[in-house]
Amino acid sequence: MTKYTPMMQQYLRIKAEVPDAFLFFRLGDFYEMFFDDALKASKELEITLTARGGNKEDKIPMCGVPYHSAAAYIEKLVDRGYKVALCEQTEDPKHAKGVVKREIVQMITPGTAVDAVNEKENHFLGSAVKLAGGRYSIAYLDLSTGESKASVVDSEELLLQEVSLIRAKELILTASVDEELIRKFKDRGITAISKVNSETLSFDESLLSLLEGSDVKQGISLLLHYTADTQKRSLDHLQKTEQYEVSSYLQIDPNSKRNLELTENNRSGSKKGSLVWLLDETVTAMGSRQLKSWIERPLINQIQINERLGLVESLKHYFFERESLRELLQNVYDLERLAGRVAFGSISPRDLVQLKKSLQQVPFIKEKLNEIPDKGLMKRSDSMDACADVAELLDASIDDQAPITIKDGNFIKDGYSEELDQYKDASRNGKKWIAELEQKERSLTGIKSLKIGYNRIFGYYIEVTKANLSSLNDDRYERRQTLANAERYITPELKEKETLILEAEEKSVELEHQIFQVIKEQVKNEIPRIQKLAKDISEIDVLQAFAYISEKRHYVKPVFSEQKTLNIKEGRHPVIEKVMDLNEYVPNSCKMDADRSMLLITGPNMSGKSTYMRQVALISVMAQMGCFVPAEYAELPIFDRIFTRIGAADDLVSGQSTFMVEMLEAKHALEHATENSLILFDEIGRGTSTYDGMSLAQAIIEYVHDSIQAKTLFSTHYHELVELSSKLKRLKNIHVAAAEQDGRVIFLHKVKEGPADKSYGIHVAELAELPASLISRANELLSLFEAEKETGAESRQQMTLFDLPEKPEPAENKVLKEIQKINVLEMTPMEAMNELYRLQKRAGKMLTKS
Ligand code: ADP
Ligand code: MG
Repeated sequence: MTKYTPMMQQYLRIKAEVPDAFLFFRLGDFYEMFFDDALKASKELEITLTARGGNKEDKIPMCGVPYHSAAAYIEKLVDRGYKVALCEQTEDPKHAKGVVKREIVQMITPGTAVDAVNEKENHFLGSAVKLAGGRYSIAYLDLSTGESKASVVDSEELLLQEVSLIRAKELILTASVDEELIRKFKDRGITAISKVNSETLSFDESLLSLLEGSDVKQGISLLLHYTADTQKRSLDHLQKTEQYEVSSYLQIDPNSKRNLELTENNRSGSKKGSLVWLLDETVTAMGSRQLKSWIERPLINQIQINERLGLVESLKHYFFERESLRELLQNVYDLERLAGRVAFGSISPRDLVQLKKSLQQVPFIKEKLNEIPDKGLMKRSDSMDACADVAELLDASIDDQAPITIKDGNFIKDGYSEELDQYKDASRNGKKWIAELEQKERSLTGIKSLKIGYNRIFGYYIEVTKANLSSLNDDRYERRQTLANAERYITPELKEKETLILEAEEKSVELEHQIFQVIKEQVKNEIPRIQKLAKDISEIDVLQAFAYISEKRHYVKPVFSEQKTLNIKEGRHPVIEKVMDLNEYVPNSCKMDADRSMLLITGPNMSGKSTYMRQVALISVMAQMGCFVPAEYAELPIFDRIFTRIGAADDLVSGQSTFMVEMLEAKHALEHATENSLILFDEIGRGTSTYDGMSLAQAIIEYVHDSIQAKTLFSTHYHELVELSSKLKRLKNIHVAAAEQDGRVIFLHKVKEGPADKSYGIHVAELAELPASLISRANELLSLFEAEKETGAESRQQMTLFDLPEKPEPAENKVLKEIQKINVLEMTPMEAMNELYRLQKRAGKMLTKS
């Protein structure tokens, strides 16, 4: 230590507090970084690396960013998962004895950086604490809105599921957590992980008052402790933590969620093409976030679901009221985040105007809701607190044209403070005096171009052009500045007015700041009310969005079946239908009940098997969210969980197209599904060789059929499996029909009862524009195989298929004729494969004989 200057010693002391963060060390107008921080930051931020220190040996690597543009650099680092510690000078250098005092004033971390967050998404900081018996206490918190939730989950798997679900930007764990678990989090894309010692907890305990039991408090305690420790600023907007049970929502594991494209599409991972993209007809940012959380956690309680559906129905029916409601909501800003900024003290006068305008909409929103004769909506209207007192306060005090910064004042309305008005009067009058003085001086001197100006250095001055100087013969004029063309003067009278004006201006700016502080404090006291209002409005916004989309896309209200029957009439895949064009999509029905719990779906590639399965799942998810569904009629069971497994070949996203992954996921479904679950197995077994895959597929079907009895849709290209329906009584065959026209396949996308009868493999290859010669060769081979099949293997003579003799023996001639008769179109690719296999074996035998 001693070999460093006192300032570097100070640096090293502070840096030791935050070994895992970049320390932005304030030096004058720069934030400097040293040592490893400098080496790393210069690369990450592409800034010049320099060095500090006299002689060569102890040159310290250094780099820095100007403090006024630091925000962009910090954002870049935090975006990449790093943390930044801001270290400021905490005393005036003028009064410092020795090294200026410095302290870390804030930590900016991926989960707590809330200044530049996407307004349509929550920005969660998560935590997990291991409990006895393999359970975990988990929690998450959005610092920008102040909301937080906590739960206890029974397994590591559920922990991972919840953490991926909320897409935590950063995760806080206890110091004792094992590395294996950390690796699993990292595999799920969570890179910012901090370990915190949980022994020194300090935070506002009252936030936990809604939680029951000590277990559930652990995760959130860790989180609140970390937040208080890193933020070092007011957190008055944090709301009481809500407790929830994973099992009180429809559970969809992260893989299945991705397969169903609920919040992002499968190809690029962006929002476009996902269910949220389709449904997001919300008007406010709060509504958009609320929608996402409803999509991620559909309900399983029928009363709650029906409550939402009832409200949607009324909103759908009352078109004009809904349209006005949407217009009113347009003028509501993000109340939750405004409340956050009030707490942080970073709220600007303009923000407060936005808050006021938003609050002023609320009485009209309430009125609109009341106009719709629906008890539920009226109840919601009644319980909505418009925070009229806050709106009045802001309306009386803050000017509508208020600026973003408070620096120059001038945003408090006239009439709000008598004292302020007096100062403002003085400064306004002052400007009038100056104008009058200018007139007076012009007539005294006879110089028409004489003018009075102002600049920061000289204050007010009288400016006379050089040509007119001769007319200025009075020693009242004291020269201050000479320009190329003019001279500038002051007079005692001018200076006297100036003092009055400037004093008044200064005082009024100062007073405005004080008044602003008081207003902010007053608003701060009302944060919980504003947050409650935000919640109420965001829900109304989502409900109106559901109503809007339901009307626009002709959705129907689903009903729930006591008998757990699923009966969808003319259902559609909501997203594909939208992308396609309403008229092109072929609707399909689906019926499942206790005697018909499994459907085996066959049909050519590209016929629509996967789409059909997803359609059934999406309709269920939408219904349980409380939204209408794309169908003519829908009677549904309430599912507890949904599982989807897509065959390896279709699984483009994960890049892990290994058979092992497929089997692990199948296992996940088989382990957790109940008779109230929905399982989609899409071409499972495709990732391995034919017989293997087929055997596994059959075994899985039998297992689900006999032991789980979950509602299951199972698509397959193993045509052989259609025979299973004679053995398994709850399994039925359905198929997606295709038709043939002029030797080409036409996809009808129509789902029908029974197994598919034809395979269109070669036609699909033709559609894919494989070389014409190859297609005709495949047709030729297929004809051979088909003929063989018809003749029967036993009666056939041995022959060489691929190397026909020039003068065939009569017996072989006969066989060839029979081959010609093969009805290729009756064969599945599987049958063709088997034929080929058999023929090849015979050819081998013939070769060994000859
Ligand atoms: P499969 O799983 O049988 O290979 P997909 O479900 O992937 O087939 O569907 C292939 C394509 O067919 C889809 O991309 C979609 O464009 C179209 N499609 C599927 N179902 C329908 C339908 N019901 N109506 C119209 N087009 C459909
Ligand atoms: Mg498919």
